[in-house]
Amino acid sequence: MLDAIYRSIGSTLSPAGPRARLTILIYHRILDEVDPIFPFEATAQMFDTQMAALASVFNVLPLPEAIARLKQGTLPARAACVTFDDGYADNHRLALPILRKHGLHATFFIATAYLDGGRMFNDTVIEAIRHARSGRIDLRPLDLGEHDVSSPAAKAAAIGHILPRVKNLPTPRREQIVAELAARVSDAPLPDDLMMTTEQIRALHTAGMEIGGHTHHHPILTGLDDDAVRAEIVAGNRWLEQALGTRVRVFAYPNGRPDKDYRREQARVVEALGLEGAVSTQCGVSTRHTDPYQLARCSLAWSPPPRFVPMLLNNLRKAV
Ligand SMILES: [Zn+2]
Repeated sequence: MLDAIYRSIGSTLSPAGPRARLTILIYHRILDEVDPIFPFEATAQMFDTQMAALASVFNVLPLPEAIARLKQGTLPARAACVTFDDGYADNHRLALPILRKHGLHATFFIATAYLDGGRMFNDTVIEAIRHARSGRIDLRPLDLGEHDVSSPAAKAAAIGHILPRVKNLPTPRREQIVAELAARVSDAPLPDDLMMTTEQIRALHTAGMEIGGHTHHHPILTGLDDDAVRAEIVAGNRWLEQALGTRVRVFAYPNGRPDKDYRREQARVVEALGLEGAVSTQCGVSTRHTDPYQLARCSLAWSPPPRFVPMLLNNLRKAV
């Protein structure tokens, strides 16, 4: 009954055809249970409930098909896509079975440098601070301040302070700084199984999921020139194409905020590489008038089930 009302509201805001509005959801990790350091990531149970609600209210399409139909003006009412960024192993272990259970398609954007035992710089920071050997950490020699890490909330605040300060550094410098940070903060061995293996990426592809590009090293593109942007995207896409034997068709900007994490004119570099479309992390929905190389995405991973669909419907009002 409630779903019928939701579908009716959704069809008014996002009708079939040229006035359609495309919803694209973004996820990163799917966790076994709530992480007190990261309460805003979805657990498998939440993701399952969210996907059940999505399947009953929205029409979920593969992203490349949705991009083509957005351009043609032939999207169904309440069109939506599901996407994952970065290539976390839990995407294969926890998200894939849930997607299959609900008959849903998803696109996985993979930063290829960290697969097969690697670790993203943000996870090095997170895991080092999770296992900090004392309740206070002094990172002043790294110009990253001094932080209380005596509780999960304090750890989350410290991580929130540190990550924005390292993410824009050139890749080799960023790797060096987070390695020094980890050595100063923790004695615990850091996990080397957070990201997918090549086999797990192949399994997603074999299951019918779309695999998209997300660069090789996940650099913030704003500070890079066009040649460096092209080289990063091509390196990631080539890696995936060799592993999967298929063409990469779609791309997600690392971090993805227009003007902050990529420059809008860099969308033309992506377009010139022959990709079919690209997604940002600009909140809202896309219309026929949206640049198909800067499609909006909406992050509701943390949204509790009763609010998930109402928030998706509210998001339909925000055309970019
Ligand atoms: Zn990413």
